[in-house]
Amino acid sequence: MNNTTFNFTLNAQNNNARSGTIQLSRGEINTPIFMPVGTYGAVKSLDVQDLKELGAQIILGNTFHLNLRPGLDVISRFKGLHNFNNWQAPILTDSGGFQVFSLGKLRKITENGVEFRSPINGDKHTITPEKSIDIQHQLGSDIIMAFDECTPYPSDYSTVEQSMHLSMRWAKRCYDYHHQNTNDYGTRRGVLFPIVQGGMHLDLRKNSIDMLHEIEQSRSNTTFPGIAIGGLSVGEPMEKMYQVLNELMPIMPTEKPRYLMGVGQPLDILHAISCGVDMFDCVLPSRNARNGHLFTWKGVIKLRNARYKTDENPIDSDCSCLCCRNYSRAYLHHLDKINESLGDRLCTIHNLHFYLDLVKQARNAIIEQNFEQFHHQNKHLHTPIS
Ligand SMILES: [Zn+2]
Repeated sequence: MNNTTFNFTLNAQNNNARSGTIQLSRGEINTPIFMPVGTYGAVKSLDVQDLKELGAQIILGNTFHLNLRPGLDVISRFKGLHNFNNWQAPILTDSGGFQVFSLGKLRKITENGVEFRSPINGDKHTITPEKSIDIQHQLGSDIIMAFDECTPYPSDYSTVEQSMHLSMRWAKRCYDYHHQNTNDYGTRRGVLFPIVQGGMHLDLRKNSIDMLHEIEQSRSNTTFPGIAIGGLSVGEPMEKMYQVLNELMPIMPTEKPRYLMGVGQPLDILHAISCGVDMFDCVLPSRNARNGHLFTWKGVIKLRNARYKTDENPIDSDCSCLCCRNYSRAYLHHLDKINESLGDRLCTIHNLHFYLDLVKQARNAIIEQNFEQFHHQNKHLHTPIS
């Protein structure tokens, strides 16, 4: 059985913000990093060449969706997702937990796992921690996420506590299954990240971290190589999320990369970096691109505004992406108006370029020891350009 190489080195620290390098068999990742989301194995409207030109170092795949469509019978013919979608750099897969819990009445949670009806054809499915890890092994994922319960917000204290305990029992089952099994092709099986839960309560978050540490200690000291923070950006006010991050990050292990799941807006990312988060993913840049909401270093452009109908400027004259090098706001406004898929592609390229540039510049600022100044200078990123 070949294990995936995983090595994390911290290269620089500026107050709590950090910059490091993750080495994986399929490539190196410079942190802080943003990971574009390819739900069904494709980052919507982009191909692998686009992603390479954007400088993407790792992308996400979605276990829940890929298991339903195209299904493992198809992906296993290709011996994993990398050969299926031709992305040969690292892939992180989520566990499917978040999607299953979003199904509301279509799902039932038990100690064993979650039973649910397929939103596509109504077929009955069960996902257990073991099943989630098995699917991620068959996908050939480089970073595998533990199957956990995404606690809804708001929930009362005892509900959050019970939910966190269930997630920790599941984390132990994920750990055991992951270390005792490989995929059907006998190829490397990726590394497993557990997820800290506990909602908005610091004591529960601390218990969660301690319980994950106990799993490591009780299992011949094979440690989790990284650690994720779940249950944030689930509808709580921004100040609440910031407060949890401010309190949680100082008690997180320092030697592991920290992945904040599903966050978020550019300023949320900068705040999280200032607290010491290393990895991010979010559908926001690609989804917003398709809705004409474009991010720039000067603020937000709402492309559907009539003022852009005749605007000859690129989205951002300082941006070096394929879209800004070649096309005007007026042309993109027109493509959006006629629902031309080229517009989706160009705007997605621009927004992902911005997000990857955001983390790159943050990284450089940390190395140059002026992250705080960089953060302060960019407080206007959510403001529409006037
Ligand atoms: Zn651009």
